[in-house]
Amino acid sequence: MKILISNDDGYLAPGINALADQLSSIADIVVVAPDSNRSGSSNSLTLDRPLRVMKSDKGYYSINGTPSDCVHIALTGMLGQRPDLVVSGINQGQNMGDDTLYSGTVAAATEGFLFGIPAIAFSQVEHGWAELDSAARIAKDIVLRKLDALHKPFLLNVNIPNRPYSALTKIAATRLGKRHESEPVIRAQDPHGNEIFWIGPAGKAKEASEGTDFHATEQGWVSVTPLQIDLTHGAQLDRLRQALE
Ligand code: MN
Repeated sequence: MKILISNDDGYLAPGINALADQLSSIADIVVVAPDSNRSGSSNSLTLDRPLRVMKSDKGYYSINGTPSDCVHIALTGMLGQRPDLVVSGINQGQNMGDDTLYSGTVAAATEGFLFGIPAIAFSQVEHGWAELDSAARIAKDIVLRKLDALHKPFLLNVNIPNRPYSALTKIAATRLGKRHESEPVIRAQDPHGNEIFWIGPAGKAKEASEGTDFHATEQGWVSVTPLQIDLTHGAQLDRLRQALE
């Protein structure tokens, strides 16, 4: 098995190192990841400047671009061959509910999916890298599950509570929950007295009922959500047709 690994926290992040170390025991791996933290970059591609690939001492490739750039470049010319799986993460912090739209971690996996390759995004629920080895072992376990039963290609979004491996006893199939709207922007002044803004934190969970990713991780379970990319609101289509008549 050949696995392409990327992330959005950058090629030096502990999460991608732990993931690569675990997966290298079961597959031929290639790591292609951003050269800096590009969290929140969603599916953006860099079109306004050239991109360069560097190789680290560990053999990881880093690119001065986004997670989507990395997977895109790897799949469309940089790698000599097509991987069997694209894996992203392990992200520092949860990607649940609406986070999936902003997440660069999910985006790296999505880029593989859009090229017809099965893909999985992994995130740890809490920041701080606590129990990272445990999360990486869970990631390997999930890659080794009987995922052949799924429609190909599949796109899975995995959130792993920061718990010891022995405490992660359940891996649950979930749907995305929803968040309240984001917290307000943070207004401040730069040293020259000019007004500046920091994007505020994500909203708290709003739809966290049984069956959602929020609910599962709250129970201490690993949450696995199958994603799709078609954003068409089917139920709205007929109403729209009538409105446009
Ligand atoms: Mn990140």
